[in-house]
Amino acid sequence: MQQHRNASGESCERISSLLPDEIRRRITDSNRQSARGRPNYLGGENRAIRSDYEFIACSCGEDCWCKRNACAGHYRLKKITLDQFLETYVSLWIDRNFRDKVKCAVREGSGFSGRWRAKNAVRALKCLREDWLGILDRVRGYDKCGLCDSTVPAAPHVSNLYEAKIWSQLFYDSIVPFDGESKGKITKAGYPRPARDFLAMNKALFRDLRKVAEAHRLKVPDIRQLDSPWLDVPQLLPQPGGQPLSRVVDKIFYNPGAAQQARDLARINRAADQLNAEAEDVLTYQVLPQ
Ligand SMILES: [Zn+2]
Ligand SMILES: [Zn+2]
Ligand SMILES: [Zn+2]
Repeated sequence: MQQHRNASGESCERISSLLPDEIRRRITDSNRQSARGRPNYLGGENRAIRSDYEFIACSCGEDCWCKRNACAGHYRLKKITLDQFLETYVSLWIDRNFRDKVKCAVREGSGFSGRWRAKNAVRALKCLREDWLGILDRVRGYDKCGLCDSTVPAAPHVSNLYEAKIWSQLFYDSIVPFDGESKGKITKAGYPRPARDFLAMNKALFRDLRKVAEAHRLKVPDIRQLDSPWLDVPQLLPQPGGQPLSRVVDKIFYNPGAAQQARDLARINRAADQLNAEAEDVLTYQVLPQ
């Protein structure tokens, strides 16, 4: 099995080489780290699923992969306004200090002089604003999920994490987002590069998730249950439909604590080296005079 390790020492394997227990462990760790580092993120995700999405019955044919695997239904964006989409988006993905600025820039079409990274979000959200009703129509007209359909409604070329998060929010069951940290792990595991070949990456991730399911006899509801944040963080409410599939895949690679752990480990190693060096100095000092 080909294995790579990232900075924190966690291996970066393809999803298909992981056991369900390992996937569950990684997702639990991701949820617990999220709850520690950004208390609002998991709560926001939990609320957004209930406020902005509906769980529609699976309308796939009997021969469809998801239907054959006990699929109960798919998440679909409700008929919400761009304003509501924007509120949810900024609360999940934009730093608290920039939220109002981003909203103003998108609503009023004004310029944005914030950090360059948030500029990417503003640019992409402005494109949504130009044709929100048309986009909403296409989004709501789609009734498949990432497990059963590799065509996914054509997202425009996605080249940064803010765009990826927009398309994932639009197609919660079909498009996996990435961020600065997960991007490296996804690439090291051998998937197409997220910021360069986004849809190919998405297709490969879901194909591998299907392989795990087939190898370990997981049904679609079991796959959704691999991510059960309400079991990891008791304040959260269970979702009747289970977790959106994009969250399950995302959290296999996304761990807000991993980067911090790597920094902590490096600091501990440096301190240990220094203590060893000092201990050697003391020994040398004690031994030399005799
Ligand atoms: Zn289905
Ligand atoms: Zn499906
Ligand atoms: Zn299907």
